[in-house]
Amino acid sequence: AIRKPQRVMARRSSRPATVATRSYLFNRSVRSTPYRIKRASAQTLHFENGWNVLDASGGAAVTGIGHLSTRVEQVMIKTLKRGIAYISSMMFDTDVAEDFARFLITTTDGKMTRAVFYSSGTEANEAAYKVALQYHATEKANPEPTRTLFIARDRSYHGTTLGALDMSGHKARRELYERVLPHNTHHISPCYAYRGLQTGESVAEYVTRLKNELEQKIQDLGPKNVAAFICEPVVGAALGCVPAEAGYLAAMREVCDRYGILLIFDEVMCGMGRTGYLHAWQKEGVAPDIQTVGKGLAGGFQQLSAMLVSPKVNDAFEYGPGSGAFSHGHTFQNYPLACAAGLEVQKIIQEENLLQNVKEKGFRLSKSLKKRLSNHRHVGDIRGAGLFWGIEFVKDKQTMEPFPADMKINWRIYEKGLAPPYEIHVYPGMGTADGVNGDHIILSPSYNITDTEIDAIVDRVARLIEDYF
Ligand code: PLP
Repeated sequence: AIRKPQRVMARRSSRPATVATRSYLFNRSVRSTPYRIKRASAQTLHFENGWNVLDASGGAAVTGIGHLSTRVEQVMIKTLKRGIAYISSMMFDTDVAEDFARFLITTTDGKMTRAVFYSSGTEANEAAYKVALQYHATEKANPEPTRTLFIARDRSYHGTTLGALDMSGHKARRELYERVLPHNTHHISPCYAYRGLQTGESVAEYVTRLKNELEQKIQDLGPKNVAAFICEPVVGAALGCVPAEAGYLAAMREVCDRYGILLIFDEVMCGMGRTGYLHAWQKEGVAPDIQTVGKGLAGGFQQLSAMLVSPKVNDAFEYGPGSGAFSHGHTFQNYPLACAAGLEVQKIIQEENLLQNVKEKGFRLSKSLKKRLSNHRHVGDIRGAGLFWGIEFVKDKQTMEPFPADMKINWRIYEKGLAPPYEIHVYPGMGTADGVNGDHIILSPSYNITDTEIDAIVDRVARLIEDYF
């Protein structure tokens, strides 16, 4: 039997908290206090209450090399000892930021040419939004200031500030701010075969249908009014690890090129090795004009994101009629301490051949997950790439009807999983959006996970789901 809705977060209380228990953090819900973590070892979170929880998600797919690293620790101390934890990027440059930018650019097969570092995925996407506007309005040889509109996809998430949220197609996240959003973005269907592929339709036909939908939207808006199209090559928390179908990215690229529209790939969640490729777009070799990365960039050792631009975008700024200045900046842009940590994380990923491990362990994870859970009556779909797997839950397997959103299945499974006897941390995703897709959980362990740990993850997750329903 399906459990009745219970408390979503533990220890929720309507009583004013006493001084001893009161949190001074303006938490995501001020009526709940999240579990407190005392420390972490490589792949385990040690809670203050004594639970030792296997980390199968690294927050929201952030952790890449586990929670501890002497190398990263040392490089950060070295940077601190040089006194360059912070140097203003408005006036100065540092070798650490420059080295990390060069490293990133050299991994893109010449497709991207410059990078700038921020502190969050949202900031990177907000910058992408604005760089696209400025590119069209002032920097090109033939400026097109009418290009102010964006196209994004339904049930997407690109960030929390107003520009990034405007691009996001996630109704629940937009709802409260709908009145003040810029409304520059128009949304089309995501590439989500589980629910989008029609009976009898081939993947190629599905991709063509989605391509036509983009083209139709451009026509409706007026081709000269559209600045950019943004999508995630593998949709993360908004849908639950949904990779684009074969040929989809190339089809979108082709349409964007035909109409002079910039293509932005949001790889904040799926990038930096998560899919087994350093950049998710490398699987199909379709590069964007602007790319954003975040979560895994510094593996959680520092808060760090980046926006990468292609030669086409850079050249318009460098050689175009405009000022050459991107009219946008942050105090903590190109923050050296974070760049030092990020570069070391990426060197470890390279030197320890962890992308190969992502592919191998990802194969093991997906195979055993499917074996254990595919036939479960409430498991609708198991999909993903590399070490990035989503399990979508449905009320009815045949009709794919989701559970009601207010049941918050994702959060309940997440919370049950933390406690013994499971002690497993899965990511609850964003839940049923618009009542269309189902709730899901995400598994996104560190890239250096072992076979034994993968087997433990699958076993605990399978028991958790079997016991929950
Ligand atoms: N883009 C995607 C695809 C994301 O998954 C997220 C965060 O979940 C963001 C952007 C926003 O990143 P941040 O939370 O670091 O601002």
